[in-house]
Amino acid sequence: MFKAFLQLLYPKLCFACQEPLFPSEEFICTTCRIVLPRVELAENTPNWVRAKFDGLIEFDEAHAFFHFMPGSRVQQMMHQIKYKGAAELGVFLGTWAGDALKKSHYCSEVNAIVAIPLHPKRLKERGYNQAAVIARGLAQSLDIPLHEDVLARTMQSHSLIGLNRAARYEELENVFEVIDPVKLQGLHVLIVDDTLTTGATFLAAAQKIRAAGATKVSFFALAALK
Ligand SMILES: [Zn+2]
Repeated sequence: MFKAFLQLLYPKLCFACQEPLFPSEEFICTTCRIVLPRVELAENTPNWVRAKFDGLIEFDEAHAFFHFMPGSRVQQMMHQIKYKGAAELGVFLGTWAGDALKKSHYCSEVNAIVAIPLHPKRLKERGYNQAAVIARGLAQSLDIPLHEDVLARTMQSHSLIGLNRAARYEELENVFEVIDPVKLQGLHVLIVDDTLTTGATFLAAAQKIRAAGATKVSFFALAALK
């Protein structure tokens, strides 16, 4: 009763379109759930997601859930997860994505999930790692263990804005470190990040994870820029 009253005074808003939610809705309104631009999870991985990694590293699968477009509702959601403390939204979207992957029979051979880590200083500022909350939802839905303390970001990178993939990769090549290689031996690791742009971050992390003994790597981003 009190909650309903509060909801009247301070309606919860959809994280994507900012319109008030109905009491039966959570995080994202029904309209947005239908219209948010999703990456097709049909028979084959969309070529444009795979193309970001083809020829650069040996990998198994590469998926993204939403199309990232500047100024879009997807960007609005990602901004909330990254900068506005909406950690629970990240878990919710990770779970939704996991359900979709499961239905499409993707990631069935993955046996470990690793999120792209933040530098400890950034983690302290933000209070949580946005990639890790998405990975948590994904791991719950797919019922695959999430390894939260295997990969670390040991260096802060400079701004990557304006750099091409090769320059980004060079900047990121040594920012990640596997701190517990034993936990990755012989596993197929799904590496998870919030956003996929050039793929340089994924590549840098994947090189380290493979070098540490994982037999296969796959990639998942909640949103990808075409
Ligand atoms: Zn909405």
